[in-house]
Amino acid sequence: MTSPSSSSKHTVVLIPGDGIGPEVSDAVRRVLDAAGAPVEFIQRHAGVAALESGKDDVLPDDTVRAIREHHIALKGPCTTPIGSGFSSVNVALRKKLNLYAAVRPMRSLSGVPTRYENVDIVVVRENTEGLYSGIENLITDGVVVSMKVATRVACRRIALWTFRYATHRKRKKITVFHKANIMKMSDGMLLDEARKVHEHEYPNIDYEEAIIDAAQMRLVQDPGRFDIILCENLYGDIVSDLCAGLVGGLGVSPGANIGDEDAVFEAVHGSAPDIAGQNVANPLALLMSATMMLNHLSEARHDPRARTAADRIKTAYNGALQAGQKTRDLGGALGTREFAQAVIDRLGG
Ligand code: NAD
Repeated sequence: MTSPSSSSKHTVVLIPGDGIGPEVSDAVRRVLDAAGAPVEFIQRHAGVAALESGKDDVLPDDTVRAIREHHIALKGPCTTPIGSGFSSVNVALRKKLNLYAAVRPMRSLSGVPTRYENVDIVVVRENTEGLYSGIENLITDGVVVSMKVATRVACRRIALWTFRYATHRKRKKITVFHKANIMKMSDGMLLDEARKVHEHEYPNIDYEEAIIDAAQMRLVQDPGRFDIILCENLYGDIVSDLCAGLVGGLGVSPGANIGDEDAVFEAVHGSAPDIAGQNVANPLALLMSATMMLNHLSEARHDPRARTAADRIKTAYNGALQAGQKTRDLGGALGTREFAQAVIDRLGG
């Protein structure tokens, strides 16, 4: 593939989402513009915002079509009500686009003091099956069965992806968190495929397995012993929020959902209805997700301009944090917009 011309831009589908989504996406968009990131956004809706914009579905066809066409999206959080009502937009989007690998790098930030220094863990979560398949049946009054789905194809695919990622990023070790002592067939299948990929294809990456309950305890006692953690869907959801707590919370925890064709970048956090519309949400998690997106664009489309913009943004937000310019969740006093402006002011010429 040839490099893009100096004036061309990559079209990115921006989904503001619900709750704090519009505020944090607006802040991120301003920072990317100011950093000269070679992207142009087209906006599409999902979630409650889609219904409010007149669509009759929380995941409108034109939103999915736009991502299929442009292959890349930056997404704010979408609300999923508990109990009856519509099913999760996020789960549906990941399934429709086959975004089978959720990757969530959890790193200490020098301006954000926490219990541990130098945490550097990447949580990789299988994103398409497990209990998240949402297959639930009312067997009889008072009895519900939820199905945990595991397929060999998906287990092998996520294992391969994780070892490839580890090699590419020069990471040393993969630990699979599991409960195969109880869920012998489903979790056992992931272990089986991960072991095969390790033994036959990537013997140079250290590999270990840990039963998830004891592993959680070790994670909070000594996070430095973990490098990449691979989990099935539900465990990955929970483990990544725990890791978010190790590095400063959901306001500083980015993520990406990656498939073979498309990639959707989004923060780990949800729509935070408790603080929506107050200009207090931390836009950093989505901004960090956007820098992951720029690095992805740089690699996938051979565009060094995207990495340059990502590096500038990273230097700017680290500088802001180190100078104490932080949002409320990190003990600071800046609002969402003011933090974005502080980052913009540090971008330099
Ligand atoms: P949440 O992540 O929205 O909020 C948990 C807590 O963290 C809240 O106290 C919130 O104020 C705080 N918080 C989250 N993001 C923050 C930020 N950027 N800055 C400062 N504080 C922040 O989780 P929840 O309350 O369990 O979920 C709310 C809704 O979001 C639910 O409908 C859930 O289904 C949805 N959700 C969506 C996604 C997604 O779209 N990817 C992910 C998780 C949850």
